Amino acid sequence: MKNMDQQQTKRLAIEKEWATYKYNVMERNYSYYKSISKGLHDQIDADSIKETMAGYLSEPLSCEAVINTLRHVWGYFRKEASESEKVMAHSLIDDFSNKLIIREKVKVYLANLAVKYKSDYLLESHYFDDMLVVSDAVYSELLKIWYDNNRRDLPWRRTTNPYHVWISEIMCQQTQVATVIGYYNRFLAKWPDIYALSLATEDEVFKMWEGLGYYGRARRMMQLAHILVADYSGEFPSTYEQMIKLPGIGAYTAGAILSICFEQKVAAVDGNVMRVISRVFNSHKDIALPRTKAHIEQMVLPLLPDDVSSFNQGLMELGALVCTPTNPDCSHCPFEMVCIANRLSIQNRVPVKSKARKKIDENVDAMLLICDDHVLITKASSQGLLGGLWGLPYMTHLISEVVESETKIGNKLVEEKIRAHLKETYAIDIYGFESTKCKYKHVFTHKTWEMRLHVMYSESMVQIDYPEMKWVRLTELDDYPISTAFRRLISKSEYGLYLK
Ligand code: SF4
Repeated sequence: MKNMDQQQTKRLAIEKEWATYKYNVMERNYSYYKSISKGLHDQIDADSIKETMAGYLSEPLSCEAVINTLRHVWGYFRKEASESEKVMAHSLIDDFSNKLIIREKVKVYLANLAVKYKSDYLLESHYFDDMLVVSDAVYSELLKIWYDNNRRDLPWRRTTNPYHVWISEIMCQQTQVATVIGYYNRFLAKWPDIYALSLATEDEVFKMWEGLGYYGRARRMMQLAHILVADYSGEFPSTYEQMIKLPGIGAYTAGAILSICFEQKVAAVDGNVMRVISRVFNSHKDIALPRTKAHIEQMVLPLLPDDVSSFNQGLMELGALVCTPTNPDCSHCPFEMVCIANRLSIQNRVPVKSKARKKIDENVDAMLLICDDHVLITKASSQGLLGGLWGLPYMTHLISEVVESETKIGNKLVEEKIRAHLKETYAIDIYGFESTKCKYKHVFTHKTWEMRLHVMYSESMVQIDYPEMKWVRLTELDDYPISTAFRRLISKSEYGLYLK
């Protein structure tokens, strides 16, 4: 019994030490780390642990890696680990048994870089015989060298004007850089400053935005322009607290503008940066969770150098060009030798990202209703899927609910439903109904539309107040901001000639 009590006391003492140890390593208190690890050696009689611990002490790795590794080994020797954890522990021990070779490789690599790029910092720091970890400054120096030599010459990289940088950052969200360049140039040519933008109408901005999608971004830009003109004399605020309160500005955009335009040491963590940092430090936190972004921001903070603008842009650029979601080009990456995911060959398993919600499939019957040389268009709710854009009247139903096929009976049923819908919603009677073969599949974030176009005619241009509708000349159809889904569908028909 006494023996068991002693064991329990000893176990609690170890648990306590372990908790304190983790905390202190997170704080990068390496001398404490040494003494605690020695304490663990004394209490656990396992030669392999001692050997492994000694290895960690001379290993040029980051804290995160040390913690992750020890967690596996520690769990293993407490006999509480699952089979897969034991396998992982073994593979980690094997990996670290090559520590000296790895260290030499890092030294040679840094020395070569130092000579090639004449970096004083690297020339001095590559002699790190007593170094336990790669210091924060090494990451930023490696990145700086790479960014200086590999950055793309993009129009918004030639300016520190917050208005310009802001527009590029908003446009680049969910849109390819190559697509954004043309939009960015046209947008600035039409609205060269925040005052000009604040005077634009929603339809004008939406029209300019056509093809970029996610129109909520454009609406929030207009709201922000109005606020800056009304409350900030047309200037962007230069503090994070003020910036983050503005519509459409999240932590990432605030970080990008503040670091690029105001040289403030703020992290700018987007999807690219989360991927790079997760791999370099072997973080297995789920990047689909919002709290992981905050965690990665905390990991980036100590790495920020004085030239924070280049660092933030360099990380984004590295994620976009080299550390891509699949098959990252590690042999051309500045972090090749210090990236833990690369060294463990688990790049394609990191970062961890839980699966997105399954998309809902809907059938959409779109109605192209002609009266003389006019067509009926309707404006979607600004809060809904199409975010205040114009389109055709339509009806949706879930794919799983569809019973009609494209048979004569099926088409007849669809025609009856459409007649009833137009009568009830718009007080319109139709004639000459035709279900065309024009189809288009549009993918939204959480929804997919399988669209089909039906053409029909009306004898009069009935007008009601709600829902918002307009009879527009076919030749003027292109003057309206039509949502991409309807634009693409119409383009498949003979009426597509009225759209650019
Ligand atoms: S070494 Fe490979 S996995 Fe690591 S940051 Fe570079 S590209 Fe990404």
